[in-house]
Amino acid sequence: MDENINELISDLKSYLEYLKGMGIVSIPASEMKADEPGQSTMITLEDVRKELGDCKRCKLHRGRKTIVFGEGNEKATLMLIGEGPGYDEDVQGRPFVGRAGQLLTKILQSINLPREEVYIANIIKCRPPQNRNPEPDEIQSCTPFLMKQIQVIQPKIICALGAFSAQTLLKTDVKITALRGKFYDLEGIKVIPTYHPAFLLRNPERKREVWEDMKKIVELLG
Ligand code: SF4
Repeated sequence: MDENINELISDLKSYLEYLKGMGIVSIPASEMKADEPGQSTMITLEDVRKELGDCKRCKLHRGRKTIVFGEGNEKATLMLIGEGPGYDEDVQGRPFVGRAGQLLTKILQSINLPREEVYIANIIKCRPPQNRNPEPDEIQSCTPFLMKQIQVIQPKIICALGAFSAQTLLKTDVKITALRGKFYDLEGIKVIPTYHPAFLLRNPERKREVWEDMKKIVELLG
């Protein structure tokens, strides 16, 4: 037993020396999982999805058809986060697939970013009744999973779509009109709020501002 532990410590030391040599001096504990003592690996989106399971952590599970986990590139440099699933998303189990989603796809195309290259998710993963705003207890139950998705993906930029997403991510009640178009920090990741595509469908004259925000994203992504 002692021999095994010594061997394990020695392996760990070698691994840490290797990481140090690569310039990596810390490993966020949240990115590790331990299936068995001494066996730690990086977590993946699949792990997060498995942990979420057939989630009933908040009352929104009662009215949903499907959990809308999120989709896209696990190594995306840009992540887009909306509010929550609507009717079409609930039926299809995919984020941003209704009219607002089609507009989002067009916005991404306009900056030469195919949908498959980014990662798209929402603050909450189940459709609220009559598309009402999510309530604090629902956000509290659901956002830990979104945070894990962010930790796995480690995007360079998060684009918060709409007031609700921006205010939740940035923990503020400042209006979206004041928040949009500027970069904020979320644990080392740049967050830029912009208008939600559903808002643009109702207010097409605001598309120009979103276009300006997208240009800033492109510039930062390089
Ligand atoms: S909204 Fe989130 S926490 Fe609530 S049931 Fe759905 S997946 Fe679970």
